[in-house]
Amino acid sequence: MIGVPSRVAFLGLGHMGLPMAKNLVAAGHEVHGFDLVPAAIEAAEAAGIPIAASGADAVADADVVITMFPAGCHVIDAYRTELLAAARPDTLFIESSTIAVDEARAAHALALAAGHRNIDAPVSGGVVGAENGTLAFMVGGSDEDVAAAMPLLEVMGKRIVHCGGPGLGQAAKVCNNMVLAVSQIAVAEAFVLGERLGLEHQALFDVVSQASGQCWSITTNCPVPGPVPTSPANRDYQPGFAGALMAKDLGLALQAIEQTGTDARMGRLAQQLYAAFAAGEGATRDFSGIITDIRDDRV
Ligand code: NAD
Repeated sequence: MIGVPSRVAFLGLGHMGLPMAKNLVAAGHEVHGFDLVPAAIEAAEAAGIPIAASGADAVADADVVITMFPAGCHVIDAYRTELLAAARPDTLFIESSTIAVDEARAAHALALAAGHRNIDAPVSGGVVGAENGTLAFMVGGSDEDVAAAMPLLEVMGKRIVHCGGPGLGQAAKVCNNMVLAVSQIAVAEAFVLGERLGLEHQALFDVVSQASGQCWSITTNCPVPGPVPTSPANRDYQPGFAGALMAKDLGLALQAIEQTGTDARMGRLAQQLYAAFAAGEGATRDFSGIITDIRDDRV
């Protein structure tokens, strides 16, 4: 069991990692951070997070190592080249980046072979959730390791679901985001179809949001301005959840679909549509902005 407070090495202090690390510091944990990018290091230092000279230095005295990197290649590379060798035996590695299921399992195997413990704990909730400590964690790993991580996860998140063994946190994340992408496209298509049939946005919203078509993509992330004043459609599709991140997650879903030979035609189509969306201005717009491309026949 990890004692509280813990000595935490937090690697990857970007949009998500920095506010997560700040919450751990505020909860009284001893955090040593590291990032490769000078601007991220400066922002972390300004936030009062001590920065180590390297990833290896950051993990050397840590009970727990948290990684929040852009992609799986960064995780595998950092584990292989410096982190696993530099950590003390039996260190708990919490891998929170969004990466492929097989990459999460490979990282897990590397950590175990080096005499450490590892769980995958990807998140949803975005930068706002990271700042407010309200992230959702989807966790894969042994009961014992997940229990050990829990005091830290509970500082950074408000909903923590233990999904099963190694890699199954990432599996749950990829499945959820595939549902989200398909439902956001379906809602966008319904509004565009409704427009062409002469239906007011508010009228369609009033029906679907209370009927069997009800889902987060309409009640919270409504893709037309008006019915849900807080949805990104009311601020010219400023994210929110950017198209580039949705395209990345659907790329991971497609990888999983192909590896498992799953008949997931809607997921495949959603991946194609979001890849096209994110190839243009959609990369930095909220993913609900795909409605504009659907209306204009651009995806
Ligand atoms: P980001 O690019 O802002 O931050 C990642 C940081 O990792 C960068 O600062 C980079 O320099 C650093 N890094 C890379 N390799 C490193 C290494 N070896 N050692 C130290 N630092 C290293 O990305 P982000 O938006 O913070 O996202 C992080 C992860 O969380 C991604 O996998 C993303 O898919 C996932 N995610 C992001 C969001 C979001 O809304 N931004 C939401 C959910 C999940």
